[in-house]
Amino acid sequence: MKFDVMTLFPEMIEDYCGHSIMKRALNKEIFEVNTINPRNFTIDKHKKVDDTPYGGGAGMVLMAQPYVDAYESIERCENSLTIMLSPQGEPLNDKLVNDFAKYNQLILICGHYEGFDERIREIIKPKEISVGDFVLTGGELPALCLIDAVSRKIEGTLGKIESADEDTFSNGLIEYPHYTKPRKYRGLCVPEVLLNGNHKEINEFRLQKSIERTKAKRPDLYEKWENKD
Ligand code: SAM
Repeated sequence: MKFDVMTLFPEMIEDYCGHSIMKRALNKEIFEVNTINPRNFTIDKHKKVDDTPYGGGAGMVLMAQPYVDAYESIERCENSLTIMLSPQGEPLNDKLVNDFAKYNQLILICGHYEGFDERIREIIKPKEISVGDFVLTGGELPALCLIDAVSRKIEGTLGKIESADEDTFSNGLIEYPHYTKPRKYRGLCVPEVLLNGNHKEINEFRLQKSIERTKAKRPDLYEKWENKD
């Protein structure tokens, strides 16, 4: 998998990818993250990438020329998908993340300021993805959410100890509670069943807790899980 991220702030992407599990996976070449800065493609002599909106109004609009030229400079792999990070897009979820993990290349377009000149959408025709019904200052955090979530689904990114198989959403439920040492903390004890080494009982306990939690915290998910065939 190759992630090509179009951003005016490549350091934001590079910094995040330089730590922890992402760093280890990049070092092992399990996937690749490249950044493309539209500012390097502007034909404006002052290196401008944004301008005031026609019709008036607040904020600066990202100009079509640097974004379209930057996009067209990216080498396309077979099985590639272009995604624009946008609060107007389809909300990101675990199903979409699984779908995205099947591509060989994801081109991610991050906006900033007031957003994109509409002609960028018209020319590039990206899939628009949102990370939730709120507005951020830029598309870099949403792009990183997507890269992080997708990369966890690529074999080799997570070590055995970080397996994604039992994470929340993977089986339609919220994950069961975890405990580690010590056995007793401020009077609160680890449930006995987790200490007896009986894996059948442990699995039953965990499934029960997952069901209870989902019912309490995400009744919408619980209903879907209960009604699945
Ligand atoms: N004026 C735009 C609108 O109302 O749709 C919002 C622009 S926002 C301030 C700047 C950029 O941040 C967007 O172009 C997008 O790339 C990114 N962004 C902000 N909120 C986002 C969200 N919830 N999901 C994905 N991207 C988001």
